Amino acid sequence: MNAESAKRRAGRKVAARDFTATPRGKARPRSAGPADRQLIADLVAANRVLAREGVLDGWGHVSVRHDQDSSRYLLSRSLAPEFVRPGDILEFDLDNNAVDDRGHGLYTERFLHGEIYKVRPDVVAICHCHAPPVIPFGVIDVPLKPMYHRAAFIALGVPIFEIRDAAGMTDLLIRNPALGAALAKSISDKPAVLMRGHGATVVAPSLPRLVGRSIFLALNATLQAQAMIMTGGGAINYLDPEEARLIEAREGYGLGRAWEAWKRKALKSGGR
Ligand SMILES: [Zn+2]
Repeated sequence: MNAESAKRRAGRKVAARDFTATPRGKARPRSAGPADRQLIADLVAANRVLAREGVLDGWGHVSVRHDQDSSRYLLSRSLAPEFVRPGDILEFDLDNNAVDDRGHGLYTERFLHGEIYKVRPDVVAICHCHAPPVIPFGVIDVPLKPMYHRAAFIALGVPIFEIRDAAGMTDLLIRNPALGAALAKSISDKPAVLMRGHGATVVAPSLPRLVGRSIFLALNATLQAQAMIMTGGGAINYLDPEEARLIEAREGYGLGRAWEAWKRKALKSGGR
C-alpha cells in the first residue's frame, strides 16, 4: 500500500468512527467499575435467546443497568445479537457515551436506552427489536391486546410512537438524544411501545422479565392477528384487565424455569 492510499484508508476509518463513537473533545465518562460477571453473562444470554427466538434480527439490541451504578448501563458494541460475547459488552453513561469504546463501532440507536433509563428509575433492562409480528399493529388502528396469560403485561398499555410527530420526515432510526427522549416520553410508564414502521421497544425490571415480555409481545401479536382473521373482524374475548392485573401481580410468574431453558438452548447453539 502506498502512502497516499494508506492516508485515504486512515481517513475513512476516522470518518466511520466519528459517526458512531463518543464525540471527539468530549471527556469520557468515569467507569462505575467492573459489573457483576453473572449480570454480563445474563446480558449475553438475553441477546442470544432473543435472536434465537426470532425477536431480534441483525439490528436489534438489549441493555441492562450497571449493578454498581444506576447512572450507567451495559450494551454490546455494534454486533448482531446472536454473536455477542462477554468481551463485547461496553459501559455507557445515560447520555449514551461509552466509557471506553475500545475503537469499536456503536449501535446507532443506543440513544433510546439512556433516555429511557433517565426517566424510568423502575426500568432495569431494555430491548429494541424489529420483530415482524408487531409491525402491523404499529400501522393499523387496532390496538394490541392481551390474548393469553403469558402476555398479560400488554393490558398495562402499549402506545405507538409516531416519529413524524417528533421530527417530521426521518429514516425512522432513533439516532440522536432528542429522538431518544421523544421515544421515552411516548413509552411513558408502560412496559412497551410500538414504533410505527420500525419495530418496538420493551422495558422490564429484570433481564428475565425483559426476555419474557419481548418474546410474548411478538407471540401475542401473531395470535391476535390469527384471531382477527378467524373472526373476520368479529369480537375477541381478550383477558379482562383485572385478570391481567392478577397475573402481573405474581412477580415473574414462574419465569425462572423458562429463562433457564431459553438460556441453555441459546448458549448451546453456538454463535461465533
Ligand atoms: Zn431499530
